[in-house]
Amino acid sequence: SQTNQQIDQRRQAAAPRGVGVMCDFYADRAENATLWDVEGRAFTDFAAGIAVLNTGHRHPAVLAAIRAQLDRFTHTAYQIVPYESVVSLAERINARAPIAGPAKTAFFTTGAEAVENAVKIARRHTGRSGVIAFGGAFHGRTMMGMALTGKVAPYKIGFGPFPGEVYHLPFPNAVHGITVDDSLHALEQLFKCDIEATRVAAIIIEPVQGEGGFNIAPTALMEGLRAVCDRHGILLIADEVQTGFGRTGKLFAMEYHSVRADIITMAKSLAGGMPLSAVCGRAEVMDAPAPGGLGGTYAGNPLAVAAAHAVMDVIDSEGLLERSLRLGAQLQGALTEWRESCPAISDVRGLGSMVAVEFADPATREPSAALATRVQKEALARGLLLLTCGTYGNVIRFLYPLTIPDAQFSAALTTLHEALRAATF
Ligand code: PMP
Repeated sequence: SQTNQQIDQRRQAAAPRGVGVMCDFYADRAENATLWDVEGRAFTDFAAGIAVLNTGHRHPAVLAAIRAQLDRFTHTAYQIVPYESVVSLAERINARAPIAGPAKTAFFTTGAEAVENAVKIARRHTGRSGVIAFGGAFHGRTMMGMALTGKVAPYKIGFGPFPGEVYHLPFPNAVHGITVDDSLHALEQLFKCDIEATRVAAIIIEPVQGEGGFNIAPTALMEGLRAVCDRHGILLIADEVQTGFGRTGKLFAMEYHSVRADIITMAKSLAGGMPLSAVCGRAEVMDAPAPGGLGGTYAGNPLAVAAAHAVMDVIDSEGLLERSLRLGAQLQGALTEWRESCPAISDVRGLGSMVAVEFADPATREPSAALATRVQKEALARGLLLLTCGTYGNVIRFLYPLTIPDAQFSAALTTLHEALRAATF
C-alpha cells in the first residue's frame, strides 16, 4: 500500500484544490473515537467527521442496522416505492423534536439540502420570499446555502450571484461586544431600511453557531425572534444540523428554550456516518408544498434511515445526553482552569459537549487564528485531531464522539493541555 505522501501527491493532481483538505494523512480504519491512518498511526478523533459521529465510528448497533438493511434492499427511491422505515423514523422524530403541536418530517441527504427545503417550505407556506439569517452563520454550500451563510471567505468568494431576498443580522457575541438588543434592534432597522416584515417568510438561526465559532444564542434572543415572528407571521427555522442529536446535552438544542421553532433542520449525527438529513416542522407548514414539490432520488436512503433508527436507540440506551453533559462539563472545567495560567485563552464556553476555546493575542487582545492553528498543530502531532472555527478562525471546537471511553477522554485532555502549553508559551 502507498504512503500518505504518495497518495497526497496523487490527490493534488487528481482533485481540485477547492475541496480543501485539512490533514495530510489518509484514513485506513476507525473504531469509536480512534482513527488509524494508512501508515498505522492512531489518532483520537475530536473532529468526528465534522460533528457526524456523536455515536462514534462504526457503532456496533449502527453497523448491524445497516447490514440488516443491506441484505433486504439498498435503494428503491422512496418517492417511487416507499418503505416503512422512513415512516417510523418520521414518527420518532416528530415525537421528539421540540415543535409546537403536530409535526411532520421529510428526509433528504445533506444538511444544505435540508436548509434549501426548509426555505422552500417556508416560502410556500407564507407566500413570501424574504429570508433573514445571521452574520457568522453557516448553512451549506448550495446557492441558497451560500446566500444564507454569513461568512464570505472562503465560502462565497467568486460564486455569486446568490438568490436574492436574503438579509443578515449580527449574532449576539459577548466576547466581541454584540448584545441581544443590538441584534433585535438591527432586525427593526432591517424592516425599516430593506424589506417590510410582511414580505419575510422566515428567520433562520443556529441555536449554537457551528462553523461561526460555537456561539450560543441567548434565550432572550430566541424569545425576541419568536415574538417578532408571531407579530408578523414569519416562520422561525432552527438549523440544528450541527447541534442536533445529543451534541449539546439535549436531543435538540432548541429544548433549552421555552419558545419553539416552526421548522427544524437536522443532518450530521442523525445517521451516525451515513448521509441523511431531515426537515421537521409544524404539520400544516410542512404540508404547504404540493405533491412532487419536495424530494430527491436518494432522499431517505434505506441504509441511512436504518442507521438513524440505531442512532436514536443508542442515544437512549447508552445515556448519551447525560454523557454529553458530563464530558462537556469535564472539558469546560479543565479549559477554565488552564485559562488561569494561559493568557492566550480569551474565552471558554459551551453547551453540553458543544465546547469551544477562543484565542487572542495576549498583548493586543485581538483574535488570533495563528494561536488556534498552532494549538491544533501541536495536538495533531501528539495524535489528537481537533477542528477550528469562528469568524476570525481563532476558536478550537470539540466534537468528540459522546461514546468515547472515559480513559481515552481523560488522556486526550492531558494531550490537549500539553498542546496548549507548547503552542502558547
Ligand atoms: N447547517 C449547519 C448548521 C452546518 O453546520 C452545516 C455543515 N457544517 C450545514 C448546514 C451544511 O451541511 P452539509 O455539509 O451536510 O451540506
